[in-house]
Amino acid sequence: MSLPSVKAKLLEGRRGLIVGVANDQSIAWGCARAFRAFGAELAITYLNDKAKKFVEPLAQQVEASIFMPLDVSLPGQFEAVFERIEAEWGSLDFLIHSIAFSPRDTLAGRVTDVPRDGFLTTMDISCWSFMRMAHLAEPLMKNGGSLFTMTYYGSQKVVENYNIMGVAKAALESAVRYMAAELGPKGIRVHAISPGPLATRAASGIPEFDELLAKAERKSPARELVSIDDVGVATAFLAHDAARLITGQILYIDGGYHAVD
Ligand code: NAD
Repeated sequence: MSLPSVKAKLLEGRRGLIVGVANDQSIAWGCARAFRAFGAELAITYLNDKAKKFVEPLAQQVEASIFMPLDVSLPGQFEAVFERIEAEWGSLDFLIHSIAFSPRDTLAGRVTDVPRDGFLTTMDISCWSFMRMAHLAEPLMKNGGSLFTMTYYGSQKVVENYNIMGVAKAALESAVRYMAAELGPKGIRVHAISPGPLATRAASGIPEFDELLAKAERKSPARELVSIDDVGVATAFLAHDAARLITGQILYIDGGYHAVD
């Protein structure tokens, strides 16, 4: 389903937080557009003042009713976002965590050589931040809800140049399963979305990324690269009641690439 063809307000009355919009190529932006097209109300965060000028017009485009900074490495910012949501909305229906970071030299090196500080930063921003968001979202999801994070196939297989991020994504996917088990009795569902490669700013930090794109297009059964809208629409489906008994998934949106050698 392409975004312009979305007519049904299937998520009308649902409110959610989207973290990870940096620009109009961000996967989080594809999610914001899709969730808004389906009628959801959004809270959107931006990393810092430098990012604000790029994110603000996008937040306005989807009529985000909450717009505030969130750098997950800064103490207090997590809490401020969830306190504001509680004060303004009183509850939360979905959360999309679409962020990852590894220092350039850490990401470029072998897993075997990874320095402790680079490892901890990678895990902190790319993995623990999702667990903390789930922790803060849980009391607001009084009527259940859904939590999403973005992962990549490099968690399952050795993908050249993905290096320590593959280790972080493997931990993230495991956290999804544990949290799905822990939060399921409260009607809170937890998923990792695993898109095929997309030319975003985060991806530009991965050496030889163009080759990864070319290989995905050449080898995926669909013979096509995914778009951020493809990711947004599929994620929105999982947030809908139609998917109420689906949880703990690693959902590949990759034209079937993961299924072939
Ligand atoms: P992007 O650069 O548009 O988004 C990355 C986001 O992470 C940015 O908004 C950035 O501000 C945010 N971020 C980094 N450090 C942060 C911090 N300390 N606090 C808060 N936010 C922080 O790139 P993207 O490709 O849209 O990445 C989104 C997610 O999708 C990431 O988890 C990435 O690993 C994952 N992913 C990307 C691809 C791809 O090919 N691009 C494929 C699969 C999964």
